[in-house]
Amino acid sequence: MNATTQSLPSVCPLDCPDTCSLEVTVDDGRITRVRGSAANPYTASVICKKVARYYPDFVHGERRLTRPLLRVGARGSDAFRAVSWEQALDVIHERVTAAVERHGGETVMPLNYAGPHGRLAVGSMASRFFHRLGATEIDRGPLCGAVRSTAYTSLFGSVQGMPPEQAAQAELIAVWGNNVTVSNLHFARVLKSARARGAKVVVVDPRRVRVAEQCHLHVQPLPGTDVVLALALAAEFERRGAIDRAFAERHVAGLDAYLDAARRYSLDDAARICRVPRATIDALVELYCATSHIALSIGNGMERGRNGGSSLRAIMALSVLRGAFGREGAGVIAKHGTSFPYTDDALERPDLASGARRRVNIVDTGRVLLDESLAPPVTALFIYNHNPVCTHPDQNRLRRALSREDLFVVGIDVVMTDSMAYADVILPAASHFECDDVYGAYGQSWLQRAAPVIPPVGESQPNTEIFRRLAARFGFDEPCFADDDAALMRAALDASDPRLSGLSPDKLPLDAALAMNAGDGRRPVLFDNLFPKTASGRIELYSADLEERFGCGVPRYLEADDHWPLMLITPSSSKRTNSTFGGHADSRGPATVEIHADDAKARGVDDGDAVVVHNDLGRVALRAVISDRVPRGVLYSPKGNWLGTSRTGQTVNALVDADRKADIMGGACYNDTFVELTRERGAA
Ligand code: SF4
Repeated sequence: MNATTQSLPSVCPLDCPDTCSLEVTVDDGRITRVRGSAANPYTASVICKKVARYYPDFVHGERRLTRPLLRVGARGSDAFRAVSWEQALDVIHERVTAAVERHGGETVMPLNYAGPHGRLAVGSMASRFFHRLGATEIDRGPLCGAVRSTAYTSLFGSVQGMPPEQAAQAELIAVWGNNVTVSNLHFARVLKSARARGAKVVVVDPRRVRVAEQCHLHVQPLPGTDVVLALALAAEFERRGAIDRAFAERHVAGLDAYLDAARRYSLDDAARICRVPRATIDALVELYCATSHIALSIGNGMERGRNGGSSLRAIMALSVLRGAFGREGAGVIAKHGTSFPYTDDALERPDLASGARRRVNIVDTGRVLLDESLAPPVTALFIYNHNPVCTHPDQNRLRRALSREDLFVVGIDVVMTDSMAYADVILPAASHFECDDVYGAYGQSWLQRAAPVIPPVGESQPNTEIFRRLAARFGFDEPCFADDDAALMRAALDASDPRLSGLSPDKLPLDAALAMNAGDGRRPVLFDNLFPKTASGRIELYSADLEERFGCGVPRYLEADDHWPLMLITPSSSKRTNSTFGGHADSRGPATVEIHADDAKARGVDDGDAVVVHNDLGRVALRAVISDRVPRGVLYSPKGNWLGTSRTGQTVNALVDADRKADIMGGACYNDTFVELTRERGAA
């Protein structure tokens, strides 16, 4: 290592449950290497290949935004000219002020997600700015997370679930819809250690994912039918006397209503509806009935369907019926966000708003922007921490909406993306390697802090400074807009929480993660040192709240009703985190679509053929991969590709119906997409 080479600690900010601690090599102010560090005991020096391989290029590559830009060409094109920060802020101020004077504050809408997961980058100064402006609020949860989170809290309340590392002590681990090696890397190590201790692993996934190759039983239900499988299992537990009645008596409410729903499905029904061999279902029942020391790990894919909430609740209910709680290694791995002492109101300051404002489901963005009867209309949009063109359902409708000439679009991002191409003004954001921030996690419970390892590249600025400058330009003079990043970190977490050991949040160690233990200082165990936070204090198998809001008090199954013959599922890619890194050369197209040999044969498709996958909403050019990983009738193509990967200029999100919603919480239904696949003769 020469004199200008440094090795510095950081944290991965991406939308991934693991939130790894990192060690970053910096040569002459440039990031040259990113590795895992031991600071976080859960991620323990291991990181995924995409972060190691693509992050230096993401920060310093040719797509990096280094100056404010003003659009000079057509929407959706790359035609921009560089301007000064002052000029960019003036244009934004002039256009947004005119819009607000004409229509009121709600004419402005943020369109943000969670590209970076640091508490400061996600919200903080940006939230303060939009609250003060009186902007329309955006409900981000339905794009991802709200269905799963609500399914869990409907049963357990807002209490932390089992930390993933405890699963190593289970006798049975059910990995249900979680492609661990791609989306939850460090859980693979937990599985390995559990197997070494003699644990059984069952994987339930419509695709034969890698972890399914090392498990004791792989169950492949048709996407969207997991609820039937889980309800049938529950009814079978009852028949066999395998329900832990003593546990239910003390800790469960709504058991009778739940079993009424479960009894509607026999194991034969499940075999037929889920298209799973009866013998496989019997084997699954045997595994569940052999032990109550069961750890449940659930992924995000299931929530993205018409039966999403019901499926998740029914799967979690299996652990409840078996009484699988009260000791390390028994429980549901979920809801880690509740383990951190966040103080969101102090950070985001909703009190700056002068009154109630409308709230838009983020999944409805395209429809809302095109709604000519909307009063007031949305005429100014701020896109940040987000690449909606590549991640929202109904991509073509969203692109039509973003093309509205009377819509003023501000884009804020680290790199040029397909969404930034729709902006009128682009402000260059600093990557998280250039910012201070504090990090909780949604897949584990270790608190971390990171400091900049390099200065902002070019004229880029941290999100906090961008919105500080915007607030100043808009004349917002409340003292909170002068808070520096240290003050924001102090506002993000409760410094009096004993788990911070008296440290101020802006002084947390950079080389160690803090365990978010239960109140007694021990690791959390439900029904030992933590208990359900439902209204009844019990696990609620019948949810009065979900019944009232969605008519879904107990899980229920809705059949698919679509005339297109193939189901398309679009889970995560090993090359991208959602769409992040989609601009890297390794993600250049065409993207692949896996198809079962019988379906390929019926369509005259050979392995490697150029194909078009299409439905009423769009057409996507892909390359066929004939594979026995997917069952008949199901296609698999990874999400997060950018438009240039497809000859039609559309990606799989163009095929997803944004108006089809999950059974609860208005969740996006990415995995409830029906299509046809056609060979493209002579196409490249
Ligand atoms: S994307 Fe996930 S696995 Fe990869 S480095 Fe970041 S947190 Fe770790």
